[in-house]
Amino acid sequence: MMTMALADRPFLGSVRSALTDRIRFCSRCGIVREERELGFNPPDLERVCSDCGMGVMLSAGRDALPDSRMSFLIVTEDLRISAVSEGAERIFGPETDLLGKMLFTTLTSPLGLEELALRIARAAGGGRDVVLIPIELEHGRPGYTRLEARIAACGPPRGALVTIEPLLT
Ligand SMILES: [Zn+2]
Repeated sequence: MMTMALADRPFLGSVRSALTDRIRFCSRCGIVREERELGFNPPDLERVCSDCGMGVMLSAGRDALPDSRMSFLIVTEDLRISAVSEGAERIFGPETDLLGKMLFTTLTSPLGLEELALRIARAAGGGRDVVLIPIELEHGRPGYTRLEARIAACGPPRGALVTIEPLLT
């Protein structure tokens, strides 16, 4: 039964997250801090990253970003790229070339653009689900062929956190 279940694993995955388990992360260097390390609603909640001095500290669910310094894009509800992490620059090129561009100029999904757009719009609108969806790069660099995007809400301001990971098979 176990083997069957694994073989039938749906292409589009979903991750459960405890709503209270929050992190804060830097939009630029991608450092992750547990929210409980920072205390509950500390009065001097860090807004600019003290690590790199460039990124804005955003909030997200624990499952939205499994690790520090991952490769991610932040996308607005109208599907434009509003931030690129240092890790993602290694895949997509410099942030300055990507800001304000439509997401689909850089990546698509074998499940279809509509599916990808729907998931991102939901996350950017504050949806609580963390969704895994296979993606393909429009101008893929060698070695970045089989990828998966982890899509979740982040903010403020509201956006979709799109983390790029190797697709595990
Ligand atoms: Zn930083």
